[in-house]
Amino acid sequence: MNYIRERLSAKLFLANLAVIMAGVVILAVTIQITIPAAYNRHMGMMDDSSMMGNGMGMWQGQGQGNGYGMTLFENFRASMFESLAYAVTASVIAALLVSLFLSRRIVAPVRTLTDASQHIAEGYYAERVQVNGSDEIAQLAARFNRMASQLEQVESMRRQLIGDVTHELRTPLTSIKGYMEGLVDGVLPSNAETFNQIHREADRLSRLVDDLQELSRVESKAYSLDIRSVSVPTLVQTTLKRLSPQVTAKRITLRSNLPADLSPLLADEDRITQVLVNLAANAIQYTNEGGEVTISAERRADEVRISVTDTGIGIPPEHLANIFTRFYRVDKSRSRNAGGGSGIGLTIAKHIIEAHGGRIWAESKGEGQGSSFTFSLKVAG
Ligand code: ADP
Repeated sequence: MNYIRERLSAKLFLANLAVIMAGVVILAVTIQITIPAAYNRHMGMMDDSSMMGNGMGMWQGQGQGNGYGMTLFENFRASMFESLAYAVTASVIAALLVSLFLSRRIVAPVRTLTDASQHIAEGYYAERVQVNGSDEIAQLAARFNRMASQLEQVESMRRQLIGDVTHELRTPLTSIKGYMEGLVDGVLPSNAETFNQIHREADRLSRLVDDLQELSRVESKAYSLDIRSVSVPTLVQTTLKRLSPQVTAKRITLRSNLPADLSPLLADEDRITQVLVNLAANAIQYTNEGGEVTISAERRADEVRISVTDTGIGIPPEHLANIFTRFYRVDKSRSRNAGGGSGIGLTIAKHIIEAHGGRIWAESKGEGQGSSFTFSLKVAG
């Protein structure tokens, strides 16, 4: 009994058998009920036109017909049921064959999918199933393959992330360890400069941890957007104010260039300020002393584009496509020496802009020719 409950092929066979049995029962009952009247009518028609003579072939009801008519009718009915018995046997054989065919068509791919999902559950994300045809089973197989490749992608991203994070953590930790060993062995002087170096590395570690936390929040969309109408001049003023210490320290000219009648944006003010501060801070960081950084905005159809343009070190064209990828830095040592971060800032910015339904991109004519970062968002109303 359990075998039948657990096997789809057995269920298919029983379902076919049940349909045939229902047909047979209906057939038998219908024949049983209708055959006397039908027999009389057809034999009556034969009597009218044949040489059998009146009433020879007819069964006229219980006790009324002649003996020959009765025997003929009984034999006719027996032959009918005999034929029916053959038909039932043939149908059962047909049901068996059809179920075997269906099993091959339905049960076999279902079993393949079951085995493949078991492999995926065991961590073999490269597992795929063959897709034949375009029916529901084939669609299920195609969806299964898509799910498997997404899982594979997530898994490879996870591995990559662990590798990247390990690498990023190791560098400042190795430095701190080196300084400490130097201090213990007396190779390094225990003065303010050494302690400042250690502090700088610890600071880098702490920024990395903060960035990673923020990245994980935006990547998993574990935050909500408070979308309102946001005034672009206010946004730019907040950014300028926040960056004024860096601007002064590096003797950079930071200015804004906004049209007077610019429509407000539809955005989460804090999040967009975070993006703009990040882009402008990068621009200041990758621009040499005496350079210029400009925040400008313009309306294009139903969106507003905000750009941060600098006269800094620029980005070689081959790197432009990658700089929004996490941990990507054009020149790791240059970025690090310039007090740069871990290459997560632009990834976070991209996530935030895309969560608003906007776009963000970078342009640069090449090394030493400055860069421009632009994002577009919908206008309010
Ligand atoms: P980081 O914290 O390292 O600056 P980001 O994600 O903000 O990380 O930037 C990624 C990389 O893009 C940087 O390491 C740098 O190489 C490049 N980059 C970003 N902004 C600029 C810019 N304004 N000019 C030149 N290069 C830039």
